[in-house]
Amino acid sequence: MITRLDLFIDRMVSQRACLDYAIAETAGMSGPVFELGLGNGRTYHHMKHNINGRDIYVFERAVASHPDSTPPEELTILGDVRETLPAAVERFGATASLIHADLGGHNRAKNDAFARLVSPLIEPLLAVGGMMVSSDRMYFDSLREMPLPPDAVEGRCFIYRRD
Ligand code: SAM
Repeated sequence: MITRLDLFIDRMVSQRACLDYAIAETAGMSGPVFELGLGNGRTYHHMKHNINGRDIYVFERAVASHPDSTPPEELTILGDVRETLPAAVERFGATASLIHADLGGHNRAKNDAFARLVSPLIEPLLAVGGMMVSSDRMYFDSLREMPLPPDAVEGRCFIYRRD
């Protein structure tokens, strides 16, 4: 029996392993990083401290993060991602070196439906060589799903790359 605690721990361990892997793989790129869903700001805090020389833009509908993990106003893109992502495509084009999405809640079916909806809005933002890390399976036409790094647990995190 896998308990909710087991699932939570697996998700956190996998998130960190996948982020560390994608940060290292894209370290030579200069394009911006997009954090989709700030929440408490734990993954943003981790990215901020491990990414050098790249702007990290945060997409969030209502900022309520830990004070240590609150992005500067000029790098905060406030609003519903269903509206802010299409605007970001206009503004940034396919320039993102790394996109991390953690937009879901506790309802798996709802998370999956939302992942299907936002996948085509995220896809055009990723630069060639860029990587996308997600807590939910995504539905991309042109991005390749990558094997997970050793510490990550299958199904708890997903990584995609634009070749
Ligand atoms: N990764 C974060 C952390 O480590 O603290 C947790 C992110 S939390 C699970 C998900 C966040 O996504 C919430 O803050 C929620 O407000 C945001 N979110 C969910 N749906 C959204 C939408 N349609 N537009 C913008 N933000 C959204």
